[in-house]
Amino acid sequence: MKKKIGISFTHTFFENYWNWFTPADLGNDVELVELSFEKNNTEDIYRCDGFLLTGGIDVDPSFYNGNANYENSPALFQPGRDYFEEKIYRYSQANKLPLLGICRGMQLVNVLQGGKLIQDLDNKNERHRKEKSDKEHHVFASNNSLLGKITGAEGGHVNSAHHQAIDPKAIGNNLVPNAFDSDDEKMIEGLEFADKSNKAFMLCVQWHPERIKDKEENPFSENLKRQFLAAIRETSMKKLTVTNPATEDIIAELNEDNRESLHRKFESLKTAQPGWNKLPLSERTATIRKFSSLLEENIEQLAAILTSEVGKPLQQSHNEIKGAMARIKWLTDNADKYLSDEAMRSNEEMEEKISYEPLGVVCNISAWNYPYLVGVNVFVPALLAGNAVMYKPSEYATLTGLEIEKLLKLAGIHSDLFHIAIGGKDTGENLLDLPFDGYYFTGSHKTGKYIYEKVASKMVPCQCELGGKDPLYIASDIKDIKAVAAGTADGAFYNNGQSCCSVERIYVHEKVYEKYVDEFVKEVKSWKIGQPTTEGTYIGPLSRKEQLQVLEQQVNEAAKKGARVLTGGKKMNQKGYFFEPTVLADVTHDMAVMKDESFGPVIGIMKVKDDEEAVRLMQDTEYGLTASVYSTDKNRAEKILQQINAGTGYWNCCDRVSAALPWSGRKHSGFGVTLSHAGLRAFTKPKAYHLKGS
Ligand code: NAD
Repeated sequence: MKKKIGISFTHTFFENYWNWFTPADLGNDVELVELSFEKNNTEDIYRCDGFLLTGGIDVDPSFYNGNANYENSPALFQPGRDYFEEKIYRYSQANKLPLLGICRGMQLVNVLQGGKLIQDLDNKNERHRKEKSDKEHHVFASNNSLLGKITGAEGGHVNSAHHQAIDPKAIGNNLVPNAFDSDDEKMIEGLEFADKSNKAFMLCVQWHPERIKDKEENPFSENLKRQFLAAIRETSMKKLTVTNPATEDIIAELNEDNRESLHRKFESLKTAQPGWNKLPLSERTATIRKFSSLLEENIEQLAAILTSEVGKPLQQSHNEIKGAMARIKWLTDNADKYLSDEAMRSNEEMEEKISYEPLGVVCNISAWNYPYLVGVNVFVPALLAGNAVMYKPSEYATLTGLEIEKLLKLAGIHSDLFHIAIGGKDTGENLLDLPFDGYYFTGSHKTGKYIYEKVASKMVPCQCELGGKDPLYIASDIKDIKAVAAGTADGAFYNNGQSCCSVERIYVHEKVYEKYVDEFVKEVKSWKIGQPTTEGTYIGPLSRKEQLQVLEQQVNEAAKKGARVLTGGKKMNQKGYFFEPTVLADVTHDMAVMKDESFGPVIGIMKVKDDEEAVRLMQDTEYGLTASVYSTDKNRAEKILQQINAGTGYWNCCDRVSAALPWSGRKHSGFGVTLSHAGLRAFTKPKAYHLKGS
């Protein structure tokens, strides 16, 4: 893919910046990306390899404690633009990516580095302020400066169109002037870093190289551009490739985080957390509610992005976002009840109470199958409780992670209170090395075990929500077999079977076995398989290519050992990661399909002679997430469920999560709790107060 230059959008002559880079300059390997505070396309910042901060309206004086009223101030400032460009600048510095600041761009860099501005040049406006056209004058380039080296000149002719300037008494941290107006050496015309070690190319100029009259010949334009382009071509950011599983098209390439960028993010989370925690809980709750409203407002676009990267049918993407909103509603409605101080005893002698203090900065390493749901389970209660959060979406759901970050910030979460970590396993590993105050992991048993062992020595909470091999039992007394078959088939195949609590094994009493299997297969055969964006599609592609092979192996092994393939059985001969929904009968526990997590559209159905045999087989697993029983007799079902070592039991339902109930696994399905009152408190440390007398 091409290297990308992000150009910050401005209302003033944006096309000049864009056209400054000619097709010959860009060649076949560089392209331009508009980064617009109006579109708030933060996600595009993470795609870029270098940035140009453009000119335009004065930086909002509140950014540098300046006076809001001054000569020639604009009718309206654009703080939204300042915040957006601050993100760009901080990102460029955290990731050592080249940056060119022009006019206002230079002034913003000075402010962001802690410097100030002369708010209006007053009697110097005549020399510098644009009237009908740009003014023109001479500048001196400092000896040994980067600018001097690039231009190869001690001075040159530049244009001028500004009424503000860098305050020479308040130059930003580690910045040094590299050019001065020839008329008055105090007028700073350019800035660069004083100490450039460990820094990428960074140059700022007060003039407008993109529209200077003789730009092709003038080294104060052309050489700047060439050097900037060369620096961009030299960048070597590790990229995360996002592929649409339905089409196999690459839909994005994102810069991965590295040790250093993650360390910076961690430090900023640590700094921001106490301020957030000091806010009343009601304010934190209101911010999260606003986030939920933004999910609702943007649901079409969010669902489309989710479907494009994980392949789930569009309707199921909608359902997931609505489900996340429902969970947020329960969590915000109950935050006050479960996160406020709790009086345990109060009499004249002694008051006893518990206060729920936040852990601090928590790390959430997440999975791709339900990025909104499993994300919300963690970062929402963590934020409500007063924590800062580093959220690492799965590498297969990063575009959704970026949308989550964007909307949280739009809702009012401070830009340093929630960060996203971009990348796969290596990024996750780097997070394990940082001193977080708690780790919350959702994913496979293999990774969860590794993480648990790795962070054990930190002596901080670590919670693991892992996979499952969830059993379902159809007892002899069920009545409407057709309806039960349809409902349970949905429990096995919804989201293409890629749910932690998907039904993965079915045991059926011999009395109803034949009829149930018959109806089940009929239901599966009735589904529409195809593009996830097509209306009515129930089965789309798998999210991960590698899983095709896992499923194929499970089916082939089962068939070899005597299982009957009633429908499906193989990957589909077309583009995309499609696997036929597969039903296996005559399966046994000698087959991997009945023991290992399938996490796909494959189910094994086994005949049992009585409840006892069903319980024995249901219990024959290393996992313990959920289990369900279908029967007309509630007592019978409850008696069976009591014998199963799983975190959730279902009677006449399955593959279901409620925000009011604890979501927790046992054995290889992990430990710890999300959702419910226990999940709200999972991101806190209770403090006991014994308060005696007066
Ligand atoms: P995974 O274990 O492959 O990856 C999960 C996350 O861990 C990803 O963000 C990944 O980048 C990161 N990671 C991978 N290796 C790492 C390492 N060495 N150090 C740190 N981080 C690392 O799981 P997945 O494929 O994303 O998710 C599917 C699994 O998640 C299934 O087993 C499913 O059952 C389980 N799951 C469980 C629940 C639950 O609530 N119990 C919910 C959803 C998914």
